[in-house]
Amino acid sequence: MSRVFNFSAGPATLPEEVLKRAQQELLEWNGLGLSVMEISHRDPEYVRIAQQAEQDLRDLMAVPDDYHVLFLQGGGRGQFSAVPQNIAGPEATVDYLDTGIWSGYAIREAKKFVGKVNVVGSTEQRAGGKAIMLPEQWQLSDNAAYFHYCPNETVDGIALHQIPEVNAPIVADMSSNILSEPLDVSKFGVIYAGAQKNIGPSGFAIAIVKQSLLGQPQSSLCSIMDYAIQAKDHSMYNTPNTFAWYLSGLVFEWLKAQGGLAAMGQQNRHKAALLYGFIDSSEFYHNHVHTDYRSIMNVPFQLVDDSLDERFLREAREAGLVGLKGHRFVGGMRASIYNAMPVAGVEALIDFMKTFERANG
Ligand code: PMP
Repeated sequence: MSRVFNFSAGPATLPEEVLKRAQQELLEWNGLGLSVMEISHRDPEYVRIAQQAEQDLRDLMAVPDDYHVLFLQGGGRGQFSAVPQNIAGPEATVDYLDTGIWSGYAIREAKKFVGKVNVVGSTEQRAGGKAIMLPEQWQLSDNAAYFHYCPNETVDGIALHQIPEVNAPIVADMSSNILSEPLDVSKFGVIYAGAQKNIGPSGFAIAIVKQSLLGQPQSSLCSIMDYAIQAKDHSMYNTPNTFAWYLSGLVFEWLKAQGGLAAMGQQNRHKAALLYGFIDSSEFYHNHVHTDYRSIMNVPFQLVDDSLDERFLREAREAGLVGLKGHRFVGGMRASIYNAMPVAGVEALIDFMKTFERANG
């Protein structure tokens, strides 16, 4: 059986070259006669690949020297509680922009740990579709310990393409858009991401943390989530997810070979333009997000007649296109087109959508 095109939002498709390399190396990694999962994380051979992965990520994202790059456990949601406990006091006020389902979860979690979570703004309906309130309308606090937002809402397919200009340190949940295009890391206090979309296996997370924000964690913070402790121990305070770290390293190597984030950004914008262009040209499919706020990673779309949804998904699967069912909260369809989705996958999806429309429109 050949591999299908997998549009799942996460765990998501990984580069085929990376999977083949991992397959080749699985039984006997690095000539050591064992797999990478079976070696101590303290072994110099393992430490070398862990360090290389960090260096490659630093190179790809041009991470400034005064930022820690941490490889953590607990996925994206783990960071929802790690962030307030690491960089805000129990009485602090923090600002959150609420742009969708994942922002909402982050807000609910933060409420457990700080004095006040101030929701500065949300989405709104505009003439062109669903949009995010303009920054002039945001109700920012004077004294926020940080400003949190989710630049790419995975479920809603809504994105904020400009980095906000606020006085507080910016924290960004980049679970579904990290590494998708070049980024000025120096504008952020903390960037975090669950790994299972653009990085590697699930259960793993990356946090990129500005050193100057650390030093006063809340006493409730567990040590494995403590950025300063993990930074001091090079993300090996406890046993890390060694396989996920290794595989993520292979993905970083692959990204460098593709030409880095400038090349990925170009390809990602091209893929998104193809898919949105087709959807907008059709009377049969719809996307309800305002063009200025459309995600280039997650493309939700609806069929005008939702009684055709099941047939669409079944026939897509038969055509080798899987993972297209929209999130259970919103229904419809969603095509996640992360870095590892080739242009050919998007073209195959559009071809299928055209054929389906002709047969059922
Ligand atoms: N944030 C965003 C934007 C996400 O898309 C997700 C997962 N889909 C999460 C956080 C949660 O990640 P995890 O399941 O790894 O905790």
